[in-house]
Amino acid sequence: MTGRVTLVGGGPGAIDLLTVRAVRALASADVILHDRLAPTEQLSQWAPQAQFFDVGKRPGHHRVTQESIHQMMLSAAREGNHVVRLKGGDPFVLGRGCEEVAACREAGIPVTVVPGITSAISVPAAAGVPVTARGVSKAFTVISGHDPLSEDELRGLVSLGGTVVILMGVGTMGHTIESLQRLGLPTQTPVCLVEKGYSPQQRILIAPAQRILEVAAQAKVRSPAVMVIGDVVHLAADADDVGRSVLDTSTMPALQRAEEIQLIRSMVGALA
Ligand code: SAH
Repeated sequence: MTGRVTLVGGGPGAIDLLTVRAVRALASADVILHDRLAPTEQLSQWAPQAQFFDVGKRPGHHRVTQESIHQMMLSAAREGNHVVRLKGGDPFVLGRGCEEVAACREAGIPVTVVPGITSAISVPAAAGVPVTARGVSKAFTVISGHDPLSEDELRGLVSLGGTVVILMGVGTMGHTIESLQRLGLPTQTPVCLVEKGYSPQQRILIAPAQRILEVAAQAKVRSPAVMVIGDVVHLAADADDVGRSVLDTSTMPALQRAEEIQLIRSMVGALA
């Protein structure tokens, strides 16, 4: 008796940003293999009979290899289970989802994909930043900053214009920001970093390109964070807007959040 695999995009981390289809898949799961950035809070309430396995990888600490994830997924399915592979964001956005689909197909295991809300769009939105805005930006490029961007890629980003959204880019941020400016990105272009979006620890930093590295270093920004570069960031740069978006999207106590925002704002102000 062969089981099946459902690759589920879990969204950016908030449980209420799972789709209805994702919740349905979880409800019928026997085995759940989840990533570090998938929403895991109170997950058992959605998947009462499932067994959970954390196969999350932290940057630099590859706890479970992609190959062993494939093996776990396939062997659980071969035992007749409905395996949900729960991933952060959308499975097909920088998430190795297509490799997992290919592994299932090669093994003859039925596989379906449930799209998820990608962090590339939703995490900027947590800071009130729209990735496009009429008259400001009609394109957005989502790119992985896992490895340093090449000169060609950097030049391409500058010449296309529009909004640049970088995932997995904390480690290579220095190189990215310095190179973009060297290749013609105006130094005043606003940059927004959203760290741990949709979590109680969410932090938002906004500064011009020429200052963002200093601000990020002072704030000790860590992964996971999404970086947005482009004039759309001005749309969130209004103090009230940033404040409101944080208050709306985070579960941190209001007072603590307000202090955090104040701190970041005064830091950015002092550097400007
Ligand atoms: N498939 C995922 C992306 C996987 S790459 C998606 O569609 O969202 C992992 C990167 O996503 C992280 O390094 C970070 O840049 C970003 N990311 C995912 N969730 C995030 C969150 N809650 N807050 C900030 N960044 C996040």
